[in-house]
Amino acid sequence: MADPEPTTIRILSGKCFCGAVVYTVPDAFLYAMNCHCSNCRRTTGSAFKPFAGIERDKLIVTQGESRLMIFGDDSANDTHCRLCGSLLYSVVRNGGFVHVAMGTLLDAPAIRPSAHIFVGSKAPWFTITDGLPQYEEFPPGASAG
Ligand SMILES: [Zn+2]
Ligand SMILES: [Zn+2]
Repeated sequence: MADPEPTTIRILSGKCFCGAVVYTVPDAFLYAMNCHCSNCRRTTGSAFKPFAGIERDKLIVTQGESRLMIFGDDSANDTHCRLCGSLLYSVVRNGGFVHVAMGTLLDAPAIRPSAHIFVGSKAPWFTITDGLPQYEEFPPGASAG
């Protein structure tokens, strides 16, 4: 590789439910948040989506690239396994970054979600019980999942 990562950065793995798609990503996420927007709720089937953001070129699909189901276009999409449907990551911010669906990580990242975002769209049946900051929409200086 022309641009090796410093050896102190761990490489994390992730995979879909059925195991057809496997990816790696360095443990160097720039931010992580819990997004309560209606899109994240529907793509995950959950109350919210914990995601972690990193530069797109740092995430590598190591197995099953032909099994991806990409909903959207090259610069903005949700990338799923086409066999089992797992949402693996989203391409965001004009294609420059990915938001990894943290539930698909096999290894624990160093980062933890730091805030709840799009709380204005939160499911009424779900109550946030932790003390993290809550933002109605985007947090200062970042973007939605
Ligand atoms: Zn799968
Ligand atoms: Zn969202």
